[in-house]
Amino acid sequence: MTTPRDDLISWLRDAYAMEGQAIELLETQIQRLENYPEALPRLRQHLEETREQQQMVEQCLARLDADPSALKESAMKFTATMQGMLHALSSDEVLKHALGSYAFENFEAASYCSLMAAAETVGETEIARTCEQIMRQEQDMAQWVWEQLPHMTEEYLRRAASGAEAKR
Ligand code: MG
Ligand code: FE
Repeated sequence: MTTPRDDLISWLRDAYAMEGQAIELLETQIQRLENYPEALPRLRQHLEETREQQQMVEQCLARLDADPSALKESAMKFTATMQGMLHALSSDEVLKHALGSYAFENFEAASYCSLMAAAETVGETEIARTCEQIMRQEQDMAQWVWEQLPHMTEEYLRRAASGAEAKR
């Protein structure tokens, strides 16, 4: 039998690991981006936010007398590395990153929505508020990625058709 509190701890560990994956994905994206510099400031801003989010999740775990799981985090970082390598094999890497980011940011937002409800259930109002704050940041980032897609696609097609470096 697991208590709701055990589940909350386990899901916060998942969230900590997910943020480790997010850091890895964003760092790769930022490093590999060459011809779409207009996207960099927002990506860098979210990388900073993501580092803070991971610390906030760690503090939530500490409130529950628990620690992050190194095993979960290294598994998720490995997933991020594999995804980065897969994208790099595509001739439209920049778009593959963008589509992946949109899915990932929404996954993050959904995770914190669920965590918020779990924290409320066990009476951890402070943790619920933290999760809500992070959820909003993920929603904002997902929205930004969504808004970039048409422009980024047009720019990719324009560059590719003119013989310019378009891939990333
Ligand atoms: Mg995040
Ligand atoms: Fe995020």
